[in-house]
Amino acid sequence: MSDLEAISLKLEARGHRVTPSRRAVIAAILQQSEHFTVDDLLSYQGAGRATVFRTIRLLTEIGVVCRVLMEDASLHYRVSERGKHHHHVVCSDCGRVQDLDQCVIADVMRELSSATGFEIEGHWLELYGKCSQCRSRSRAVLAG
Ligand SMILES: [Zn+2]
Ligand SMILES: [Zn+2]
Ligand SMILES: [Zn+2]
Repeated sequence: MSDLEAISLKLEARGHRVTPSRRAVIAAILQQSEHFTVDDLLSYQGAGRATVFRTIRLLTEIGVVCRVLMEDASLHYRVSERGKHHHHVVCSDCGRVQDLDQCVIADVMRELSSATGFEIEGHWLELYGKCSQCRSRSRAVLAG
């Protein structure tokens, strides 16, 4: 089964119709490199802006796509291997994104919940830094 079919089945299993224009958006997503913006998808033919936004939102809700806030504050998307709540490390040099396996601050959230009296329903955390490839490249430059 292709990724396109697998994602279509997932959507249908949740009661969403997979129209030809939604299929076009999913196909465009699967052609993207590591991460992409909504504008990247709009450059593909086959679906209007509203469909692109709606399809992205649906795919995010069912955990096929995750949102990544880049260091420049632009919102990117990426096909998720996790399917559930998780965080990312983002390279501030090359923009490489890696999923973290699990929520790293679940304990902190529980503490903050009792400290504030809030029932905390969500949070967003990205980690920024330099990936190992960029670090070894800059070491090579320094070594001349
Ligand atoms: Zn990098
Ligand atoms: Zn992710
Ligand atoms: Zn978390």
